[in-house]
Amino acid sequence: MKEGEPKFQEEKIEEPKRETGVSKKVGFKLEDEESLSTHLKDIFEQHSEKEVREGFLLKNVEREKTESERKIISAILEKMPNFIKKYGGDPVDIGLDHIHFLDNHKLDKEAREKLNLFKGGEEGGYNPGQQLIYVIDSKNNLQNAETITHEIIHFNSFQSVELTKKDESQYNFRRVGFEVRSKEDKEIFFVNINEAITEELVKRFDAEYFSSIPEIADEVKDREKVKKAAKGKGDDISSIISRELSDKGNVEYVIAYHAYPRERKQLDKIIRDIYNKFSDKFNTKEDVFKLFAKAAMDGKLLEISRLIEETYGKGYFRRIGEATKRKFNT
Ligand SMILES: [Zn+2]
Repeated sequence: MKEGEPKFQEEKIEEPKRETGVSKKVGFKLEDEESLSTHLKDIFEQHSEKEVREGFLLKNVEREKTESERKIISAILEKMPNFIKKYGGDPVDIGLDHIHFLDNHKLDKEAREKLNLFKGGEEGGYNPGQQLIYVIDSKNNLQNAETITHEIIHFNSFQSVELTKKDESQYNFRRVGFEVRSKEDKEIFFVNINEAITEELVKRFDAEYFSSIPEIADEVKDREKVKKAAKGKGDDISSIISRELSDKGNVEYVIAYHAYPRERKQLDKIIRDIYNKFSDKFNTKEDVFKLFAKAAMDGKLLEISRLIEETYGKGYFRRIGEATKRKFNT
């Protein structure tokens, strides 16, 4: 093409770059939306609100990451954007400082309450309001890597906020991944489905990338040996955690499994039923899973809801949402 000739190709209109975990804002006036964007960007860039940063949560409970932990997280963060894009998402530019290791011994009752850690045994969380991830150290790099990957996938999933009170421009999270949150009832629908999709994505990320991360490569190799010995029943093994026994300095080995087994079975049943009903439309079960993953990533639930209604009957999408809901702990 000669210089000065008009370009006939359609110009690509660039979508605005996703600057925070929030992908969409619903129901705001333009000026409110702009100030909300500034507010959210500030939280994202400062890695949480000031009171959380300087208050109890991070100052008193956080511990420094070790050098190898920093390398593991950096490797996961480096590989994540392409993975998210592959499943139809728009990756967020998450950094090391968005991820906080919490010292289990310092997590007293108050800290646990503020983090919604009521039951104990939680390994980590993603807090959309604070745009941060916390990890409760399992004392095992591979297991921590699984947790961090899980939370980073939540962080990258579709998230929308909506106006709660018109005059005070207060906002609430409406969607996080596949979850749908109610305004007044303080309920979250499809929690189990969202967790199942997230952990299934962790398994796929792990299979593709974990053996190439030097700091955990040996542990991945050891895990493969145990998986092989389990003869086809080891698919769900996430790590082998060694624990020092207090008595003779001996070590015991505990097999850890991927999170949310019950929820993943629920999801698998739905996927299987859809696949059987529409075996002409889908080549593999994995193709159905990919639609669930895409819905968590781009926020569009319509296609899945249609498939579910056509598989089980009218009203079933809502019923599944109800059956997999959780009350909000606030
Ligand atoms: Zn989760």
